Amino acid sequence: MRIAVVREVVPGESRVALVPEVIGGLVKVGYDVAVEPGAGRSALIDDAAYVDAGASISPTPLADAAVAVSVQPLPPDVLTSGCATISFFPAGSRLVDVVARRDRQITTFAMEFVPRISRAQSMDALSSQAMVAGYRAAIVAAGRLRQFFPLNMTAAGTVPPAQVLVLGAGVAGLQAIATCKRLGAVVKGYDVRAAAAEEIRSMGAVAVDLELPTLEGAGGYAREMTEERAQLQRDLLTPYVAAADALITTAAVPGRQAPILVTRAMVEQMKPGSVVVDLAADSGGNVEGVQAGAVIAMGGAQVWGGLNVPSQLPAPASRLYAHNVANVIELMTRDGRFDPDFADEIVTGMCITHAGEVLHAPTRDALAAAEAARA
Ligand code: NAD
Repeated sequence: MRIAVVREVVPGESRVALVPEVIGGLVKVGYDVAVEPGAGRSALIDDAAYVDAGASISPTPLADAAVAVSVQPLPPDVLTSGCATISFFPAGSRLVDVVARRDRQITTFAMEFVPRISRAQSMDALSSQAMVAGYRAAIVAAGRLRQFFPLNMTAAGTVPPAQVLVLGAGVAGLQAIATCKRLGAVVKGYDVRAAAAEEIRSMGAVAVDLELPTLEGAGGYAREMTEERAQLQRDLLTPYVAAADALITTAAVPGRQAPILVTRAMVEQMKPGSVVVDLAADSGGNVEGVQAGAVIAMGGAQVWGGLNVPSQLPAPASRLYAHNVANVIELMTRDGRFDPDFADEIVTGMCITHAGEVLHAPTRDALAAAEAARA
């Protein structure tokens, strides 16, 4: 059975879904892996490396493919009826594609819906890519700040360390904290989940306590705030933001627009030359007025808005994503064939369409609501 690796067509997407080091394992269980020429180029992998690993290079990898793997969703019209896809697939914002895939009998597996259970950790691409983004956020902050991160004691005098504040201490935030600490900054972190305080401290950072109730949701995620609570949180965070040389924001609530944690007025209170890095910019932003993919001035600060940040480190991001995808394929392989077991909660959790049906309940509800609104 064939696995197709195609060249990504979304502008700015530099990752590739499979890297040579996972090809051998897939070939061993019986797959033939066909890679489109140049599919790995933006992730610094040339075609020869795929061939050396046991794949073939094909200008038409999708022909006869049982499974097509990619980072971004493939357009349904390039897919053969009956084939399966494994990629990120934000189903709620792609309902037209969902219908086309359902009607063409395409099986769609979405990497963002891998359930957060320990058996699925090796398939959790949201975590692997968030880790890359968190590291990148810290490096961007350190690179754009026109001062040292670490304390420097020299014969010419002492230069104090930079003060960094990280808002949101999930996978990306903790990685940003760890990286800023390694670079020598003094780091404070804040998150609405109770468990996060201990994790922030375990990275050697100070956990900011605003003495507000915590907001735990299902599956280790945060719950949405009321507007009253959001305002109080912003008021209490204002002096911490003003004191920071660099602010990194990473807060998200699943399925919702990112919460505004920091207003323009709060940023304007920061010192001249301060840096703000908003990793949530492409889901609305944690900082009021941020622009995804741009750096803008706010008072004396520069505000960097992240846009597909894992793609800015395409080699490690692809490597981690490829391992996640290969582990998904392995889970879905029985007797050397791609044969997902629809009794497995990981398989059903990440399946959007299969055999002419929309299996993912929230997507089915969203479709029904969209159809009702049209009628
Ligand atoms: P995420 O990307 O959805 O959110 C990032 C962080 O923002 C979270 O820590 C969240 O609590 C925080 N946040 C949300 N609203 C906020 C607000 N108003 N103010 C401040 N912070 C706010 O989350 P994530 O990083 O993907 O995961 C969150 C947690 O889930 C992680 O800490 C991790 O321990 C856990 N997790 C578990 C598994 C598993 O069990 N397999 C896998 C991955 C992550």
